[in-house]
Amino acid sequence: MFLAVEKYGGTSVGSVERINAVADRIATARQRGESLVVVVSAMAGETNRLLDLATKVDPDALAREMDVLVSTGEQVTIALLSMALHKRGIDARSYTGGQVRILTDSIHGKARIRDIDAARVRTDLELNRVVVVAGFQGVDDDGNITTLGRGGSDTTAVAMAAALEADECRIFTDVDGVYTADPRIVPEARRLDQITVEEMLELASQGAKVLQTRSVEFAGKYHVPLRVLSSFEDGPGTLITHEASDMEQPLISGIAYNRDEAKVTIRGVPDQPGAASRIFGPISKAHLNIDMIIQNVAQDGTTDVTFTVNRDEYPEAMSLLNKTAKELNARDVVGDDTLAKIAIVGVGMRSHSGVAAMMFETLAAEGINIELISTSEIKISVGVNDKYLELAVRALHKAFGLDGEGTEEQLAEAKDS
Ligand code: ASP
Ligand code: MG
Repeated sequence: MFLAVEKYGGTSVGSVERINAVADRIATARQRGESLVVVVSAMAGETNRLLDLATKVDPDALAREMDVLVSTGEQVTIALLSMALHKRGIDARSYTGGQVRILTDSIHGKARIRDIDAARVRTDLELNRVVVVAGFQGVDDDGNITTLGRGGSDTTAVAMAAALEADECRIFTDVDGVYTADPRIVPEARRLDQITVEEMLELASQGAKVLQTRSVEFAGKYHVPLRVLSSFEDGPGTLITHEASDMEQPLISGIAYNRDEAKVTIRGVPDQPGAASRIFGPISKAHLNIDMIIQNVAQDGTTDVTFTVNRDEYPEAMSLLNKTAKELNARDVVGDDTLAKIAIVGVGMRSHSGVAAMMFETLAAEGINIELISTSEIKISVGVNDKYLELAVRALHKAFGLDGEGTEEQLAEAKDS
């Protein structure tokens, strides 16, 4: 039988009406003869509400208790959705992450899935039940509740699909697919029919919020057929493909951004073996996510090292770095928490030169100063002051022809001039 894992995000289950609408959708899929595992998020706003409550009690609450708290959001949704399914005469069973046995490591708030023991789910499916699973959560070896980081229900869904070798994993959300850019910033942005998993991975890790990065990694690693679609309207959505199609690849497939960035620089670091490892050791121990590492060419025996972190991890990064600076006898530490990151992504970059130059020219023409640059094989990202974010994204969307015109000609023009 065709097995689909469907995931419904917070807005898709944000009210009783929405939960009923999801139950109707599931009933329709059952009529098509599909076997279903459904992963749900907390109702819209619920995770934030819980986080706020905790902050009021203790802004430094233990991560273990934070996970006990925020995992309750999803537990509400699985129960309500199962009830709505029962009401429609559908046999359904709800499970928390721990009950399914989604085993994770013990890094509370950012846990990674290690293993899924899906025996129980398989038994239910054989009994023709719809299995409703709480997203975003798991359990560690000692039985502690863990959570997978914001947006983690996507990863639960893809991991379940991988464990069950599902025929398709559908991520239902409030947009009808993956866009060339955030339509709230670029009204001309277009839905993509398909995108390669590696492009999606870059877009997600550079700030596109539509899928959690980890979920795309899972999809790539286990070849999970993945589709992003809207639970509010019918449509084909966007298919995440595992091979680039024969279709002519556009130069750039999409633009992602992240407004909540910060940069920190440790200056005057003695230029010796081991300095970088002394700088990044404590950062990695604290599980801070860093990006865009830049080390300058040494002058007079010292060098500067800059990197970016998420803005909410900026204070911790600064204090760790200040400590390291003392130990290393570095001159000082400076930082700026008004940074935004913008990335252009496309597998077409592999076979074309001049993309970086065109990106920099476009930003220059708008008078936008580039503070940091980093590249990969299929991505170029820049750090700019966050006040330029919208302007930069719009200008790049237009320059690379994502508004609808061809890109090849524009690239040729850019190279000629
Ligand atoms: N409820 C969690 C969050 O808001 C997980 C999710 O929705 O994917 O981040
Ligand atoms: Mg989400």
